[in-house]
Amino acid sequence: MNAALDYLINFDPTDWMAISLRGVFAYLFVVLVAIVIWVARDVVSRSKNLIFQVFAILLVIVLNLPGLLIYLIIRPQKTLAEKYHETLEHKVLAESEEMCPKCDRPLPLIFQFCPNCGEEARKHCKKCHKLVSKNWSICPYCGTKKSTQKKLESDKEEKK
Ligand SMILES: [Zn+2]
Ligand SMILES: [Zn+2]
Repeated sequence: MNAALDYLINFDPTDWMAISLRGVFAYLFVVLVAIVIWVARDVVSRSKNLIFQVFAILLVIVLNLPGLLIYLIIRPQKTLAEKYHETLEHKVLAESEEMCPKCDRPLPLIFQFCPNCGEEARKHCKKCHKLVSKNWSICPYCGTKKSTQKKLESDKEEKK
């Protein structure tokens, strides 16, 4: 009991400081390591440039939290996966569009008339009534040939 009391009275407060400082440093070190690992993984997913990757990691190691802030500002906005997805999307969009035969502007597949020049770029299939481009030799939906289309059209006109 006395020994414990002695210990409490004679305790050197600077020791507590040293212990808590050590704790704080250990904590900061763990946080720093976690941030560096996060930045390393993030930069690899966003850039293929090795120099930029090393620069970003060094930035965080040297400047710590301000370095992290700088990195968040200068890092590429999109990850490589997102970029890949975007170019793929653009490609699909470009392939699903045709050009207007008159003014050569892109014409979405759902349009019958060109919104730019008013050209009737597509006609409804006489059989399945879906929009078919004038350049196509058959209806891609039901397989009706262009010649059959014309026949169907003239038959209809004759009936009138
Ligand atoms: Zn046009
Ligand atoms: Zn058709």
